[in-house]
Amino acid sequence: MPMIKPTLAAIALLCWTGCAMAQADDHGDDARWSIAIHGGAGTIKRDKITPEQDKAIREALGTALAAGSKVLKDGGSAIDAVTATIMILENDPNFNAGKGAVFTWDKTNELDSSIMDGSDLSAGAVAGINGTKNPILLARAVKDHSPHVMLSGEGANQFSREQGLEQVTPDYYATPYRLQQIEDLLARKVSAADVDYKFGTVGAVAMDQEGHMAAGTSTGGMTGKRWGRIGDSPIIGAGTYADDRSCAISATGSGEYFIRLGVAHEICTRVRMRWPIAIEEAQLTVPKDEAGNYTYAIHASEFMLPDAEIQQIADDVIAELGELGGDGGIIYATPWGQAGYSFNTAGMYRGRATSAGEQSVSIYGDEE
Ligand code: ASP
Repeated sequence: MPMIKPTLAAIALLCWTGCAMAQADDHGDDARWSIAIHGGAGTIKRDKITPEQDKAIREALGTALAAGSKVLKDGGSAIDAVTATIMILENDPNFNAGKGAVFTWDKTNELDSSIMDGSDLSAGAVAGINGTKNPILLARAVKDHSPHVMLSGEGANQFSREQGLEQVTPDYYATPYRLQQIEDLLARKVSAADVDYKFGTVGAVAMDQEGHMAAGTSTGGMTGKRWGRIGDSPIIGAGTYADDRSCAISATGSGEYFIRLGVAHEICTRVRMRWPIAIEEAQLTVPKDEAGNYTYAIHASEFMLPDAEIQQIADDVIAELGELGGDGGIIYATPWGQAGYSFNTAGMYRGRATSAGEQSVSIYGDEE
């Protein structure tokens, strides 16, 4: 098969067959970037959220999205965009991460966070920590400055101090809203699994102008968690995953199910496996010459999976999560510039922006 650079005819054919070519946006191919963020998923319905909460959450998501977008627009890396975005959400008491984290059964805060760089598959995570103002910075420090991927509890706290990260006293994380939730849970003598108090985990995924992917997640976990329970958020492959060959994912929801399904890695693997098959399928549509050879070869670097296929892969995995009994959702970014979501809950705090001009913040399931 002669290896010829794709012609315009090839491009037209690929688009015509439903296998869209990567389109140059207004800024040109070099300036392509994308970001998606979440602030948790759950029974988020209009009758459960006051207009003030609705406004505050949209503003917070918008601020975080703008900060991440600026990093990417200015040519910064996906990992820096993810870090900057998550820090803002951790500092906002509306979310279950950093300030505003939910309480454990013992009325303490145990924070989980993770981050991954898709360009080299480097990753860092922390579980059951406190004392660090921004857990995402601690996860990042584990990735950048330790030989490990995951640190937990007191050892992770010690590493944080040694790294010179900003420390806070335990009462820093507390908010009246979260205190009321744990008081209520303890009074009703129900367990963490029986209440829907967990909204507010935060996450971000991004693709930078170099085409590199990154993902990060940060949470206080589930209200009333006990026995050192750890959810999916700090587990690479469950709550967070990034791979330049496929996608970047950050999850939120009932962590136990996300762990069992390895949701973040599962979606990325399906995307990675689907892509070469899609190229093969497109190649079969290329006309042959009189000798029976293809007149040109599909060039992988100029090929992308269409939006609908990415969405379908994410929806399929979330459907499987639902069949197991799990609820929640994910955000995704792909190396082709797509950014989106999939969730099986009533709503998900979310936002996305791309170099193509897309920019939106949403809360309820019936919104774009
Ligand atoms: N996934 C988190 C956990 O299980 C909670 C959440 O996303 O709401 O710890």
